[in-house]
Amino acid sequence: MRKEVKHPKFSSRNCTACWKCVDICPNEAIIRIRFLWHRHAKPLYYSCVGCNRCVSVCPNGCFEKKD
Ligand code: SF4
Ligand code: SF4
Repeated sequence: MRKEVKHPKFSSRNCTACWKCVDICPNEAIIRIRFLWHRHAKPLYYSCVGCNRCVSVCPNGCFEKKD
């Protein structure tokens, strides 16, 4: 049986599009969203392995570890 992945919660509200989370994610589970008027990261939870590296690296607290 597949173990349930506890992926972190995410809010793009404070994202400054520094892309640190994109670079550190081991499974390419975070993509760059680029609109003309706004840029932000977006996690793809079907690819997330729950490592929480994005939680540690984000300078703006956009990710929150799930218990
Ligand atoms: S928890 Fe790990 S695998 Fe999931 S989005 Fe964050 S860095 Fe990527
Ligand atoms: S590390 Fe944080 S601020 Fe930087 S792109 Fe990712 S979510 Fe946005």
